[in-house]
Amino acid sequence: MDQTPFYRQSYGARRDQLAQASHLTADQLATLAANRQTTDEDLIENYLTTYGLPEGVAVNLQVDGQAVAVPMVTEEPSVIAAASNGGRLLSGQSGITTVVANHELMGQIVFQHVADQPALRQWLQDHEATLLAVADAAHPSIKRRGGGARSIRVRLLRPDWVSLDLFVDVSEAMGANLVNTMAEAVATYIRSQLDVDILMSILSNFATRSLVTASCVVPVDQMKTKTISGQTVAQRICAASDYAQIDPYRAVTHNKGIMNGIDAVVLAMGNDWRAVESGVHAYASRRGRYQGVSRWWLDDDQKLHGELTIPLTLGVVGGATRVLPLVSVNQLIAKVTSVRQLMGITAAVGLAQNVAALRALVTDGIQKGHMHLQLKSLALSVGAQEAEVAAVAERLADQTQPTIEQAQTALTVVRA
Ligand code: NDP
Repeated sequence: MDQTPFYRQSYGARRDQLAQASHLTADQLATLAANRQTTDEDLIENYLTTYGLPEGVAVNLQVDGQAVAVPMVTEEPSVIAAASNGGRLLSGQSGITTVVANHELMGQIVFQHVADQPALRQWLQDHEATLLAVADAAHPSIKRRGGGARSIRVRLLRPDWVSLDLFVDVSEAMGANLVNTMAEAVATYIRSQLDVDILMSILSNFATRSLVTASCVVPVDQMKTKTISGQTVAQRICAASDYAQIDPYRAVTHNKGIMNGIDAVVLAMGNDWRAVESGVHAYASRRGRYQGVSRWWLDDDQKLHGELTIPLTLGVVGGATRVLPLVSVNQLIAKVTSVRQLMGITAAVGLAQNVAALRALVTDGIQKGHMHLQLKSLALSVGAQEAEVAAVAERLADQTQPTIEQAQTALTVVRA
């Protein structure tokens, strides 16, 4: 038995060990091998294979006066259709407008067992300029790129903790690594000056200074369905939005729908979707209760207004953006050349996704359109081959709630 730690074994030895332990068949091993990308082997640890996800493109989006095609990576049917449908609903006039309030990431240096909190706060505030200089010196190139440490904030937390918050303009990067480097350097400097117990130094994913707002104003008529007037649909969308402000059970699902689109764009752009997810959900709870991150309301002029504000910690450089080959292609498709543009487009997709979901929910219900788009994945899940998928889906189209059993029967019929 090889005693070499798993992570130090060769690729072949690791794969063989797993194959033996999991009784993988020759076909299963061939699948792992077929998806192996040697360029990915240094990206993560204990590399086994590369797990592909489908990529599609949302269309009909008009963001800040430009028509944008947005690459989205997702395994969920209907997400891209909904984003495109939402884009269409919000198109015309100015489309979706976005404003990036700021793009600063926060590092925090956490002190514990602080005997005199006000005194520590005073010292930190008195030394702000030095602390910012120490931070910049830890990653000097960021200043040349137009960023750098910008300010500090001191928070006293009960009973005896203090957080020194360091705000850094991370320029075009997501900035996690560079902020961590800066926060650790600042902690080392403070330790050299004061007798303090610093528990940790790390960025915060609650990125309240990396906020982007996507908004739109559309005539209510654009919301009409074949059977319901635009005004009624718009009123119901507003009611659904109000309800997501008061009931966390609904708010989570309201936001999940928004994140369907946002995560898919974040993945396509090679960014850290865990950072975005945690930041958005924390922001949804900022008032002490979990709420929807978008709002919809009507004005006196028969116009429907929508607005979504969320923190987005994204980058167009750094992280995996230059490692995953499709990211630069996706940046070109979406015509993204700056992080602020990427933040805007991503938030715009979230708003489009939201209006499409709410409109469906308050009119026909989500299942009608959703199940139609799920038919192909249902066909695939029962083993339909590429040439059989359309025929199986067609046979299932009449069912209101198609089941796996019905899909299997449909496949058998198609193959007969
Ligand atoms: P990188 O360190 O990979 O990239 C950032 C670097 O890119 C900068 O330090 C800079 O280095 C270089 N760069 C080149 N051009 C520019 C520009 N125009 N603007 C800014 N920087 C530029 O990644 P990040 O610091 O961005 O961190 C993101 C990664 O960290 C992600 O992979 C994320 O998953 C991971 N991460 C996330 C954490 C979290 O969210 N909690 C924690 C830890 C890591 P230079 O100037 O020297 O060339």
